[in-house]
Amino acid sequence: MNIKTRFAPSPTGYIHLGNARTAIISALACRHNSAKEQGSFMLRIEDTDKERSENKFIEAVCEDFNSLGLKWQEGERMGGEFAPYRQSQRLDIYQKYFDELLCLGYAYRCFCTQDDLLKMRREQKLSGMPPRYDGRCCRLDQEVIEQRVQDKQPFVLRFNTKFNHSPDAEIIFNDLVKGKQRFPRHEIGDFIIRKEDGMPTFFFSNAVDDSLMQVSHVLRGDDHLTNTPRQIMILEALQLPLPQYAHLATVMGEDGTPLSKRNGSRSIRELISEGWLPLAIVNYLSRLGHYYADDKLMSLEELGAGFDFSNLGKSATKFDWSLLSHWQRQALMAMDEESLWQWMSQAIGNKVAEKDKLQFAGSVSANILLPQEAVKYTQMIYQQDIDFTAAQLEILQNVEDGFFAEALTTYQQGGKFVDIIKNIQKRFGCKGKQLYQPLRIILTGENHGPEMAQLLELIPKELVVKRLQRWIR
Ligand code: GLU
Repeated sequence: MNIKTRFAPSPTGYIHLGNARTAIISALACRHNSAKEQGSFMLRIEDTDKERSENKFIEAVCEDFNSLGLKWQEGERMGGEFAPYRQSQRLDIYQKYFDELLCLGYAYRCFCTQDDLLKMRREQKLSGMPPRYDGRCCRLDQEVIEQRVQDKQPFVLRFNTKFNHSPDAEIIFNDLVKGKQRFPRHEIGDFIIRKEDGMPTFFFSNAVDDSLMQVSHVLRGDDHLTNTPRQIMILEALQLPLPQYAHLATVMGEDGTPLSKRNGSRSIRELISEGWLPLAIVNYLSRLGHYYADDKLMSLEELGAGFDFSNLGKSATKFDWSLLSHWQRQALMAMDEESLWQWMSQAIGNKVAEKDKLQFAGSVSANILLPQEAVKYTQMIYQQDIDFTAAQLEILQNVEDGFFAEALTTYQQGGKFVDIIKNIQKRFGCKGKQLYQPLRIILTGENHGPEMAQLLELIPKELVVKRLQRWIR
C-alpha cells in the first residue's frame, strides 16, 4: 500500500516550529521520494472557523512550505481527485453525511441553549458527576422536534455515542507511536458534529475528509489523541475506512510546558527572515520526535528515505535552540561562498567592497550563525580608528620592540599573514598566543574572530599600514 499523509492546518495563524515539525514529519512519512514506495503528501485547509480563518494564512502556509523545500503532491494549489481541498468549500459533502447520521440514528438535533448547558454543568458538578452532555435532546419526541424545527429554533447536531452499542463497548485502536489505545464509549459524552451555523466541527470534517481523501496515515500532535476515539466513532457509523493514527510526542518549550508562542515557538517565516536556514530547520525538526542513526546533515530526500514509523519517539521532547544552532552550523558549512553571500547580502548591503564579497562571506561564515552577526566583521575590517580596552592595551604594550615593525615590513614587501608570523617567530622566538594575539588585536581591535590570514586579505592595505604604524616603537 502506498502511504498517503497530510497536513491539515487551520489558517488562523502562521506556521510555527511546533506545527512545522508535524508537517515535516508527515511529509517525510509518505516517503514520496523513496525508491520502494511512491507515497503522497497532501495539504488540506481546515477553514471552517469563518471568523478566524484568513486567506493570507493559506498563502503563508504554501510560501512557508516552499521556503522549507517541502513539496506536496495534492491539495491546496495542486488540486487532485478529491478537490476541493478547502473545507469551507465542502459543506454540501458534509451535509450528505449529517443527513446519513441523522437517518441512521447516530445523530440528533440538540436545541439546548448556552444557559441550559451551563445549568446542566453546574448541577453535574454539585452532584459530583463528570461534565458531560446528558443526552436530553436525544429523548425528545419526534413531534416536538418537528415543531421546533418549524419554529426555526436554532439547533446543533450531536453524535450519539451510545447508539447501537452495548454500555461497556470500547473504542480500541493501535496508535503507531503510542501503541494500543482503549477508550470506554460511555465515558464520551454526545459531542457536537455540526454547529448552529451549519458548519461542521473539527471532529467531523477532519475525520470525514481524511477518510474520503484516502489518507492512509494521520500524523499529528498527541494533543489530538483524545479526539481520535470520537473520530473513529463517526467513521465507523458512516462505514467509512479508517486511517492509521500516529500521535507524535509533544514538543516542550524550555519551561517544560508544550511549545507555544508563549514559551519560545517562533513562526517559520520569522526564523527564515532572520536567516535560519531551511535545511537546518528541517534537519532539526525532523529529528524532534524521530530517531535517525545518521547524524549528518541530510536533504529532505535523504530524511524521507530514512523515515521509519518505528523510529518515532514515544516521549515528549524539548525544543532546544542549541541543537537548532548545531544544524545551522552544519548547513552553513555545506554552503559555497556564492550561497553564503546570497544568504547574508541583505544584512551586509554595500558595507563590503564588491570585489571582496565572496571572500568576506567565506571568511566570516565559521564565526556566525545569522547574517546580522556578520555586520560586526565589516566594522572590524573597515573601521578607521580602533579603540582598545585596557586589557588589550596591556597586551599591546607588552610586545617586544620591533614586533609590529617586523610585521609592517613583511606586509609592505607583499608578505601574507603566514609570512608575517614566520618572520616575527624567527626574530623574536615567540609562538602561540603571544605571537597571534597582539597581531589580531592590533589589526582588528578584537581578541577573537575569523581566521586572521583571510581577514588580512580583506582589510584595505592603507588601513593595515595605519593600524600597524600606530604601534611601532
Ligand atoms: N486543523 C487541525 C489543527 O490544526 C488538524 C489536526 C489534525 O492534524 O488532525 O489542529
